[in-house]
Amino acid sequence: MIIGAGPAGLMAAERLAGAGYDVTIYEAMPSAGRKFLMAGKSGLNITHNEDLETFLSRYGASRARLEPHLRAFGPNEIRQWCAKLGVETFIGSSGRVFPTVMKASPLLRAWLRRLDDLGCQIHYRHYWTGWDEAGNALFTTPNGTLQAKADITILALGGGSWKRLGSDGKWMQILQAAGIKCNPFKPANCGFVVNWTQHLIDKCAGQPVKAVTLSAGDQTIRGEFVISKIGIEGSAVYAISATLRDQWQQTGSATLMLDLTPDRDLGDVTTRLAKPRGKNSLGNHLRKTLGLDATKTALIFEVTPREVLNDPAKLAQSIKALPLPITRPRPLDEAISTAGGVAWDELDENFQLLKRPDTYCLGEMVDWEAPTGGYLLSACLASGFSTST
Ligand SMILES: Cc1cc2nc3c(=O)[nH]c(=O)nc-3n(C[C@H](O)[C@H](O)[C@H](O)COP(=O)(O)OP(=O)(O)OC[C@H]3O[C@@H](n4cnc5c(N)ncnc54)[C@H](O)[C@@H]3O)c2cc1C
Repeated sequence: MIIGAGPAGLMAAERLAGAGYDVTIYEAMPSAGRKFLMAGKSGLNITHNEDLETFLSRYGASRARLEPHLRAFGPNEIRQWCAKLGVETFIGSSGRVFPTVMKASPLLRAWLRRLDDLGCQIHYRHYWTGWDEAGNALFTTPNGTLQAKADITILALGGGSWKRLGSDGKWMQILQAAGIKCNPFKPANCGFVVNWTQHLIDKCAGQPVKAVTLSAGDQTIRGEFVISKIGIEGSAVYAISATLRDQWQQTGSATLMLDLTPDRDLGDVTTRLAKPRGKNSLGNHLRKTLGLDATKTALIFEVTPREVLNDPAKLAQSIKALPLPITRPRPLDEAISTAGGVAWDELDENFQLLKRPDTYCLGEMVDWEAPTGGYLLSACLASGFSTST
């Protein structure tokens, strides 16, 4: 019995059915893989091509637990698996791997056909609500409550974001009631609220801030992000979001430091700013001397006190380390993924619940996190792949 037809559950189904098990999948939604399809909307970044050591390091504290599974079914194997389903992949900029068609739907269609060929049954609109005293799994279905029993139960119920796609995270209460430790969900790969002035919103909402470095704690990321009406989002922000989120959760506040001219050192910036300004406005002076665009200039004006703006040496320091106060992370439901979930020490090395033998937890519902870049799907697929061993 596999509960949850996302990438982790579907991969487990393929492996187990391929190994000769009778597999029945139960899924709450009217169709499979809704978050997987959503992931494909802006290009399905299914894995990442880089040396394995760097790849494994992306999983941080969970690396040791995920490593054997990612070694067994890593980026190369994922690409071969896609190819066998008739979907070729390519390596994009910065190593991200996508299907050549970019979307997820052809891959999902072929995958469901393969599962059908392997004899897997899928029951949609079957919402798992827990177990009864006899150990039967209970489902709410359009025809009332269903009880079902299986030799092996695989839970692949997803994280706690984007509830409308099916993974509502309510399984956590069921597992906690069964005595299984779960760590609270936390938004991962998320945006943040910043208390912008109306002036900045009018000038910059929707604008990218390109070629900057972002620092929080001991992490520094180079990249770009986007200013929204309510805060900041985009790839570089997601990449640093775990550090920023943890800082905010531990201290109640967080500050993102921006280097707006990462290719110039402080001395160079100071010298350039010290050049006579003549009749130029400060904005023009920043553009002419440092090449700063209107968005970067607006950011400087937004957070820098007037006395600093008027002092070239202090302003140079501010441009190299512009402090952006963060109000809070965006809500859990908006996050690309969630940290938290079933605690690792509740699972054996094959994702089996120690307190409930023959029941396994796979994919995003386990407490690990990773940046965007194909690492999330890679670990979900690898956990599903491991089940037949
Ligand atoms: C907008 C967006 C873009 C993304 N882009 C990428 C990307 O490009 N690359 C990448 O690596 N990752 C990406 N991700 C993350 C990735 O999609 C998820 O990490 C992945 O889908 C998790 O797989 P899963 O199988 O663990 O869970 P899910 O895909 O969430 O599947 C869980 C399934 O369980 C079902 N379910 C939940 N509760 C119950 C219940 N009680 N009873 C029955 N069924 C239930 C759900 O309906 C769902 O079908 C993206 C996520 C989002 C939101």
